Amino acid sequence: MRSREAATRVLVLNSGSSSLKYQLLDMRDGSRLAVGLVERIGERTSALVHTPRASDGDGKRERTGRIADHTAALEAVAAELAHDGLGLDSPELAAIGHRVVHGGLRFSAPVLIDDDVLAEIERLVPVAPLHNPANLMGIRTARALRPDLPQVAVFDTAFHTTMPEYAARYAIDTATADAHRIRRYGFHGTSHAYVSRRTAELLGRDPSEVNVIVLHLGNGASASAVEGGRCVDTSMGLTPLEGLVMGTRSGDIDPAVTFHLKRVAGMSVDEIDELLNKKSGLAGLCGDNDMREIQRRIDEGDERARLAFDIYIHRLKKYIGAYCAVLGRVDAVVFTAGVGENAAAVREAAVAGLETFGLAVDAGRNAVRSDEPRLISPDGARTAVAVVPTDEELEIARQTFALAGEDRTLIS
Ligand code: AMP
Repeated sequence: MRSREAATRVLVLNSGSSSLKYQLLDMRDGSRLAVGLVERIGERTSALVHTPRASDGDGKRERTGRIADHTAALEAVAAELAHDGLGLDSPELAAIGHRVVHGGLRFSAPVLIDDDVLAEIERLVPVAPLHNPANLMGIRTARALRPDLPQVAVFDTAFHTTMPEYAARYAIDTATADAHRIRRYGFHGTSHAYVSRRTAELLGRDPSEVNVIVLHLGNGASASAVEGGRCVDTSMGLTPLEGLVMGTRSGDIDPAVTFHLKRVAGMSVDEIDELLNKKSGLAGLCGDNDMREIQRRIDEGDERARLAFDIYIHRLKKYIGAYCAVLGRVDAVVFTAGVGENAAAVREAAVAGLETFGLAVDAGRNAVRSDEPRLISPDGARTAVAVVPTDEELEIARQTFALAGEDRTLIS
């Protein structure tokens, strides 16, 4: 029997349809022992990039060659980890944490994975056809490799299960909605949970005391209203398509646009799906989905890029205003993810003109680049504006370790 004290590592796996991202963390201090990514799984040339001791970035190793499936991908990852003395058979590995996109209504918290949990994730495939099958592949592969190890599913939807019914339901026929489990689930929950908690810490207050609007602005983007540590509204819905303008997704749109595209433009449902998820948003508006490129084009006087930026900001402002109304009292508006953490111009434009809501940005503070959580509002502002880098892997590892730790108490 292993001593619990010795097992302090958690492997976090994030399986996509043709990719596998992983991080090995030491839960004594949250440090990364290794991070990596396998891409183009199943294609002719797959690639594995593995970086041990990511904190100093030394010793990055890259391999190319065909990796046929997720089992082969995880075996390749295991070999890289073993090369660094961090193999999956190490007694120091406490658990594996899996990012699972859709947990439906049943999973409001992380769970230890068993056959019943796997069956439920499978049952949710119709509402998450792109994500849950890939997540299941990662889980099955990891269980086959280490059947004795606690494995935990951490759901993107879990943080949003506290939304009141009036925020979660669409105003459509109830019987139809219930028959097909159509409701607003929300996504990016692990990030919203982590960032809202870290924001409370930054303010020096308990999460139960503060109301926060979290703006997760990455290639995918979502906003949430968090009241005393509980999510009360979020911008993504049944799928990640609803809400903000994103890199390639339209966000909110009149549903009749889809009928119109089918009836008048003669597009198939799959073509419309592809249009709204992959060819819309910033990319659809101006041809670029990377905010750095859009800013560069704006600086050169490009009108299409300017309009795309203005549409993006207009939607963001509408959500900030809406969530001020939902929360009543707002203690902080916080920016996170690739755009939110790095694009000072987006942060400045998003709160410009919102002084009536107590919102303002200090230009000097907003311009500072840092990996640390920080306030960018002026001293004495009624509502804090902050930048808090997200860390979904650390949050998944933390939740996994908390649960697997309990499990290990039972078994040791
Ligand atoms: P994420 O999905 O959180 O990894 O965010 C990716 C997006 O962040 C990219 O598509 C860019 O639009 C944006 N991004 C990353 N770095 C910067 C930067 N330095 N300035 C502006 N946008 C950035």
